[in-house]
Amino acid sequence: APSRQNFADRLEAALPPARLALLKLVAQRAHQRRLPVYVVGGFVRDLLLNRPSQDFDIVVEGDAIALARALEREFGGRVTSHSRFGTAKWHIAEIRVSLLKNALHLDESNANDLPEFLDLISARTEFYDYPTALPTVERSSIKLDLHRRDFTINTLALRLDGRHYGDLYDYWGGYADLQRGLIRVLHSLSFVDDPTRMLRAVRFEQRFGFQIEERTLQLMQEARDLLRQVSGDRLRHEIDLILAEENPLPALKRLDDLQLLTAIHPDLHWEPHLAEPMRKVLKDPLEPAWCLPETWGGTPIRRALAYLVWFLPFSTEKSLSLAQRLRLPHHLREGLKIGTSLVPTLKDLPNLTPSQVVARLDGVPLPVIYALYQLYYDTEVAAVLHTYATRWRHIHPVTDGHTLRTMGLTPGPSYRRILWTLRAAWLDGQVQSADQERALLEQLLASRTS
Ligand code: ATP
Repeated sequence: APSRQNFADRLEAALPPARLALLKLVAQRAHQRRLPVYVVGGFVRDLLLNRPSQDFDIVVEGDAIALARALEREFGGRVTSHSRFGTAKWHIAEIRVSLLKNALHLDESNANDLPEFLDLISARTEFYDYPTALPTVERSSIKLDLHRRDFTINTLALRLDGRHYGDLYDYWGGYADLQRGLIRVLHSLSFVDDPTRMLRAVRFEQRFGFQIEERTLQLMQEARDLLRQVSGDRLRHEIDLILAEENPLPALKRLDDLQLLTAIHPDLHWEPHLAEPMRKVLKDPLEPAWCLPETWGGTPIRRALAYLVWFLPFSTEKSLSLAQRLRLPHHLREGLKIGTSLVPTLKDLPNLTPSQVVARLDGVPLPVIYALYQLYYDTEVAAVLHTYATRWRHIHPVTDGHTLRTMGLTPGPSYRRILWTLRAAWLDGQVQSADQERALLEQLLASRTS
């Protein structure tokens, strides 16, 4: 099935010189060993769609680990490998790669375009012993390697070695589907083998403005309920990938329309009114005055905010059940617990004094408040949340525990009470200067001793 088409020019135009030189070097060494090598999958798909990416894996029809070790012996770097999968990682971001730089004729400036490592993968097939099991792996031809992939558009390969350089290998009809804009599985048990592919189908369909092919759509409807058996970690991973898309909203709506969300959890839905707050937390600049952290408990902030926006409108019970199903990280679960119990009281906020607001919101994680702010955008509630986050939460008295100790007060629970009274007085405008605070403090201490 090597088609007569050759995409060498496209490849040359897409890659920066350093990466191209590296690719050619690997191809040449493979050729010397009579090993066919290919770039495959998403890289080729994107190249043919004229939206090239720079990251490629190399598939070797033969022993990829041996090839990687030979490259390591000749040029340095370091190889790590998994013999079970026949995969090797050639780490080249190291001191000893000067040999490599010489071989590639690179100067310092474009040597920086080299990747940190290169993945070399032996062509392999996978068997699923029973539906949804993890696969058993075996060495094989490129054709069978491509057959285990999710959709035809991801099965295209460009061969790199010798006179085959740039030849398109299209065993499974991927090129035609790419032209027609179709997402198509390779066989009728694809979604049974791996139900997460249903989420991937929607992601690719919406990213490229394609259509899920008719028969594939039918298979999806038939396999939908298998999502129930997929682990939360695997589902969350696919949803994270959707949230990281350039525009995730159409994909979320499509998942809902296809009833894939309810298959994951009966309460999981996409609501159109979430589109606006979701877009704001995923795409718009986060309001700088809030000083949000970049990550929250290890989760990138935008992803964390997206889950909060999605699940905070639920009751505490439902929201925690969803978080449990997707095995959301601990911080998010805690945030949802606190946030959902806050929601029923939010409508009172505009009638409270600043100190009463602070008493309610201190202890609520800032990302939770930001998500609520976006959910209530343009309401009085949002205005209060904004003022709290950008001003009131930063207001503290001049006095601190240390001051109280130097004044001879025995440390104890009274510290908290006194400091809170001072802070509340600042917040509510009863104290407006350090002198006034001092006067209030002395008054408080006098009333205690009397
Ligand atoms: P993206 O542009 O989102 O990175 P990609 O196509 O590069 O998309 P990866 O998730 O990096 O996707 O996967 C690399 C390749 O592995 C894909 O081209 C795909 O064919 C294959 N693949 C990934 N996940 C699956 C899966 N669940 N089932 C079958 N093949 C898969």
